[in-house]
Amino acid sequence: MSDLLLNVSDLNTYYGVIHALKNISMEVKKGTIVSVIGANGAGKSTFLKTLIGLLKAKTGKIEYNGEDITKLSTHEIVRKYSVSLVPERRQLFGPLSVLDNLKLGTYKFSGRGREVKIKVNLNRVYKLFPVLKERANQKAETLSGGEQQMVVIGRALMADPELLLLDEPSLGLAPFFVQMIFNTLVELRRKGLTIILVEQNARLALKISDYAVVLETGKITLKGSSLELLKDEKL
Ligand code: ATP
Repeated sequence: MSDLLLNVSDLNTYYGVIHALKNISMEVKKGTIVSVIGANGAGKSTFLKTLIGLLKAKTGKIEYNGEDITKLSTHEIVRKYSVSLVPERRQLFGPLSVLDNLKLGTYKFSGRGREVKIKVNLNRVYKLFPVLKERANQKAETLSGGEQQMVVIGRALMADPELLLLDEPSLGLAPFFVQMIFNTLVELRRKGLTIILVEQNARLALKISDYAVVLETGKITLKGSSLELLKDEKL
């Protein structure tokens, strides 16, 4: 069996005439963290949205565990392939409780299986983020930024992902929470999860990832092991 979870080749994505992703090729090995680094507007979010089918690539191929998923809908990708996205700027259901937000992460399961998933996965999320158990009945919009980021990550984990896509989890957070979130990502990798981490904070992302690509105006301009890139002066 291959150790490759994701194989992206020659991906091109457009917004009308705007060519947002240009010939993106990269591989993601199982159980690794891969960082996608770049400035505002480089195409990082577009890349994640294309991977999960929210945007359709005009050309190119996305293979997940050797299967071509390029043309699949988000719905199919999430159901069949266990991919979860943690969107940028924390998109929570503010008036709902923390618990209800977390439960929403299990929507792809049905019947009795869903109840079991809620119980088991909720326990896992509470272990990872004990503060969410204390705040279970509090409205999500009343939490601090760092706590809200935990809810969004928790919600993604409730779906039992094999691949977790994170869009700028450090954005706008106090250093304490950033460190905490990044420590959690390391812990999740240790448990076998594969992670694609989109970040503007290059140094931080490189410190915890195994491999990284640098995006500039839609193109990959640098790629390599995170250790190598940490030493790269161009970065
Ligand atoms: P940020 O960190 O600011 O979110 P990013 O690296 O994630 O930046 P993208 O959001 O992927 O960048 O945007 C890539 C390019 O595509 C930018 O030039 C942006 O203006 C453009 N773009 C993004 N969304 C749209 C859209 N809905 N319609 C048209 N152009 C868009």
